[in-house]
Amino acid sequence: MTEFDAPVPFTSEDYAARMRGVVDQAVAAGLTGAVVTPGPDLVWLTGYQPTAITERLTALVLAADHPPTLLVPRLERPDAEAAEGATAVTFADWTDGTDPYDAVAPLLRGDGSYAISDSAWAMHLLGFQGVLPGSSYRSMTHSLPMLRAVKDANEIGRLAAAGAAADAAYGEIKKVRFAGRKETEVAADLAGLLREFGHSQVDFTVVGSGPNGANPHHEAGGRTIQPGDAVVLDFGGLKHGYGSDTTRTVCVGEPTSEIQEIHDIVRAAQQAGVDAVRVGVACQEIDRAARAVITEAGYGAEFLHRTGHGIGVTTHEPPYMVEGEEQPLVPGMCFSVEPGIYLAGRFGVRIEDIVTVTEDGPRSFNNTDHRLAVVE
Ligand code: ZN
Ligand code: ZN
Ligand code: ZN
Repeated sequence: MTEFDAPVPFTSEDYAARMRGVVDQAVAAGLTGAVVTPGPDLVWLTGYQPTAITERLTALVLAADHPPTLLVPRLERPDAEAAEGATAVTFADWTDGTDPYDAVAPLLRGDGSYAISDSAWAMHLLGFQGVLPGSSYRSMTHSLPMLRAVKDANEIGRLAAAGAAADAAYGEIKKVRFAGRKETEVAADLAGLLREFGHSQVDFTVVGSGPNGANPHHEAGGRTIQPGDAVVLDFGGLKHGYGSDTTRTVCVGEPTSEIQEIHDIVRAAQQAGVDAVRVGVACQEIDRAARAVITEAGYGAEFLHRTGHGIGVTTHEPPYMVEGEEQPLVPGMCFSVEPGIYLAGRFGVRIEDIVTVTEDGPRSFNNTDHRLAVVE
């Protein structure tokens, strides 16, 4: 693979279709429209990411009664107009010294109800409510959870490329020395490899050795990796704007029979989760399928988290593979399947691949060997 392979650019029509989809989904949810402030949704809808997110209001207003309108501070307008999806939006601006909420008011209905970005500043939400007291707002994630969940062919191509790059990083990290080095040193190696294979952003490089591997949210610390350690490696970031996220657990030297046994269980659970992926199956069934294997093996209490999360322009997003999530799987959804077993104070094992739903079942973006690798 090449490091510099360029993705197919998104077109103005791609962005326009996404924005129409938001309006359709908002209306179907009984809302007037959506207000999108800087963050992943804005990037996905317009390609625009302000260089710095400041107190100045930037907001994309989407509603059925007017064309998509991006309100920006006047001084940032040239940057916004250079965004990939800029031709799909109408621009409006406001200048320092004027009230940005007076500028946004004509774009909103006084009695409207809008989905608003989860990350919108409270200051802005209060400003909207102040200028239009009859308007109401709801969490974007709660009211439109499947907004970005179904990926098109171009997005799937980028996710596959990000997955292949993460796989290439795993192929290389197995060759480095683990014993006697700190977790943070191996994590730095991993970050360098992700960048080498085309990632523009590294979101996490978990290196959980020995007892640290039993804490699913441990990233990497000052612990010196010991011979005999199981080491959880969970890493990912963004390549061409789309995420990677994969986990393999390796062993420093030959594994004990217990490490091998736990690894075999997690591997079977991960496979069961992937095998359950089929169009129309509820997200929670993926969790149940993976969890059943671990529970039957007697480690149900040691599987501490949900089985998976969606991935796209962020590395964690809906849909979630979790008990209670009844959303059926749709072709084009992309998410992780990542069961684990965590033996407190001793070691942990997790295996994670990103998969997408196709009419023919699951397709994996991570294809490195699932067997327990021995490292030095
Ligand atoms: Zn992960
Ligand atoms: Zn993950
Ligand atoms: Zn996570």
